[in-house]
Amino acid sequence: MKIAAVRTHLLEHRLAVPFESASMRFDRRAHVLVEIECDNGLIGWGECLGPARANAAVVAAYRPWLIGADPLETEKIWARLYNALRDQGQRGLSITALSGIDIALWDIKGKHFEVPVSTLLGGRFREEVRAYATGSFKREGVDRVADNAQEAARYREQGFHATKIKIGFGVEQDLAVIRAVREAIGTDMRLMVDANHGYDVLEAVELGRRAAEYGIDWFEEPVVPEQLDAYRAVRAGQPIPVAGGETWHTRWGMREPVETRAVDIVQPDLCGVGGFTEARRVADLAALHGVRVVPHVWGTAVHIAAALQFMAAMIPNPVRVNPIEPILEFDRTENPFRQAVVRTPIEHVRGVVKIPDGPGLGIDIDRDALAEFRMGDD
Ligand SMILES: [Mg+2]
Repeated sequence: MKIAAVRTHLLEHRLAVPFESASMRFDRRAHVLVEIECDNGLIGWGECLGPARANAAVVAAYRPWLIGADPLETEKIWARLYNALRDQGQRGLSITALSGIDIALWDIKGKHFEVPVSTLLGGRFREEVRAYATGSFKREGVDRVADNAQEAARYREQGFHATKIKIGFGVEQDLAVIRAVREAIGTDMRLMVDANHGYDVLEAVELGRRAAEYGIDWFEEPVVPEQLDAYRAVRAGQPIPVAGGETWHTRWGMREPVETRAVDIVQPDLCGVGGFTEARRVADLAALHGVRVVPHVWGTAVHIAAALQFMAAMIPNPVRVNPIEPILEFDRTENPFRQAVVRTPIEHVRGVVKIPDGPGLGIDIDRDALAEFRMGDD
């Protein structure tokens, strides 16, 4: 079996109401899927985290090293592609593009051996995971405090055990949101905050100290990801556990934050860190240092399916009678193609998501949806 074709599919939807995180304004949802076809007709799917067009360009740049290769040799291909762009691309788009390719190759490998990727990774420790609802962005033209509180209350009604809200817009306003959300969801639902690196150290420390009384599970990306000293200062200066890692790529990018405990919880993204091949190594590194792993997810059902296959095979750490179970980040913001791209949507039931058990990623792509949501030329 040889790789015969490598394609990308750019998808887009213009939002009815634009929204913001602390670091970015969204007026559309845009994601890119990777399709790899073999000479025997077998097809695998992957997804890249981040700018769709830029990722597609880098996937195209990798194509010459892929055509004719044996898709089952995932480790060899990963090493070859990494080496091809290493001198200018040890992190960033070179790795997010490589991630989408790696995921598609593991999908092919699972289909070839007729087992889920999680079985290839060593076995399924679990058949379902609890999901946490990610939402509560700053939507344009509405009162942020009331809007976020109502949204969080909806997630509670839908059965989610936890929700994550966006902060990083200013300490006083963020505290008002946290207070209102906690009031809306009660004391028994878990709550996380994500600053999308919108604070400096002093703001983050002040926010953390004053927000702790509202029972916050983790404080995500308090400061910019390049400044690990700043991360460590936030961790030392306030009581909420610090999380981060969605922009740290490969084992080398994860090494210092994990080894120096810049974070309590590390959040590798399957579609960003380097695919299954590299996420495995990052999970091992985190386990060695006693750092908890909660994968980051922001994409279509292909991305969710990859995260689920990985989470199925995550080794409990520590091993004990009732282990700490991984939880799935479940994006609840507007994106009509998120689930439309697969024939069987990956949905939650009262906040619990079943892990697909079909071959590969366990999904079937709906090509009509790829056509319907194809990105325009602008
Ligand atoms: Mg985040």
